[in-house]
Amino acid sequence: MKATVDSDSCRGHGVCLTLCPEVFELTDDGYAEVIVSDVPAELEDAVRSAADGCPERAITIG
Ligand code: SF4
Repeated sequence: MKATVDSDSCRGHGVCLTLCPEVFELTDDGYAEVIVSDVPAELEDAVRSAADGCPERAITIG
C-alpha cells in the first residue's frame, strides 16, 4: 500500500498523525506528509482509518 497527502487539500488538522504517527508527520509548514514509501501491512488499517478520518479527504491510498 502507498499513501499520499494532497498538499492543496490538507489543512493540518492532524487527525492522520493521531491515528497513524508511524506514517504521517506534520511539516514545519503545518501540513501532513507521508514519511514511508510503502506502508507496512501491520499499519494498513491505521492508514485506512486516517484516510477515512481526514476532514479534508486529502489522503489517497492505493
Ligand atoms: S487529517 Fe487530513 S487535513 Fe488533517 S493533517 Fe492529516 S491529511 Fe491534513
